[in-house]
Amino acid sequence: MYKYELGAFELVVLEAGPYYMDGGVLFGVVPKKLWSGALAPDENNRVPMATHPLLIRTSKHTILVDSGYGNKLSEKVRQNYGVTYDSSLVDELAAGGVEPEDVDTVILTHLHFDHAGGLTTLDEDDLLQITFPNALHLVQRAEWDEARRPNERTRAGYRPDDFLPVKEAGQFKLLEGNYRVTTGVQIRVTGGHTTAHQIVRITSKKRRAYFAGDILPVTSHVRLPWIAAVDLLPLTTLEEKRYLLRSAAKRGDMVFFYHDAECPVAKIVGRGKDKFDYVPVGPSQ
Ligand SMILES: [Zn+2]
Repeated sequence: MYKYELGAFELVVLEAGPYYMDGGVLFGVVPKKLWSGALAPDENNRVPMATHPLLIRTSKHTILVDSGYGNKLSEKVRQNYGVTYDSSLVDELAAGGVEPEDVDTVILTHLHFDHAGGLTTLDEDDLLQITFPNALHLVQRAEWDEARRPNERTRAGYRPDDFLPVKEAGQFKLLEGNYRVTTGVQIRVTGGHTTAHQIVRITSKKRRAYFAGDILPVTSHVRLPWIAAVDLLPLTTLEEKRYLLRSAAKRGDMVFFYHDAECPVAKIVGRGKDKFDYVPVGPSQ
């Protein structure tokens, strides 16, 4: 768990579980000779990944962004993704003094299982429980529709058990565009990774940070053409990355990288026209 101060807000990077992913899938059109220099693959061509949900604590709100893959993965999926771990998001929160009941808002960048899996939890009797019983869950309506009516290419990313019980309990608010959650916490629809993927911009006392979700999964993706093969609209991802990275480089904003196993938080540095690099940011305490 890493804590950061951003103006009057406390931002906490949580560890919701590691996994492995095929390097070719993660970097799209980039040749292996290039990407393997940035992130070394294992004998199965897989690279190490993390899941880092973000907790935003303001004077009034306790907001969680994304929730890891949870504890409901099948044995087959666990094998495919090298998961040897049951996500301990609730324990991580408790270590930071936050109970699941305290979370009043959950923002989902999108509903893929590595982001929405922690929304429900299997209890000791194998019954599904809603992990954050007092939280309003925010996702785009178009993302919801995609998750409910996936096609042959998108189906493997979604698990209805992650989000249907939350919807049935009336705890989803389906958004139709950009949305202000509270003062200083703003959702922006980017699309790209999925049709209605969204990111979060956090601002307090003139300091700014971005939770970039899967348009910048790991720090290597600060190179503009490095875009995951699974993205539905890679050219939209490209333009959203360009916009975010230009702005972050100009202002020295922090960026949170949900999937980076080594560097969950970094500042962006410009290196000539639309070329970017990153500098890791250690926790404030
Ligand atoms: Zn993801």
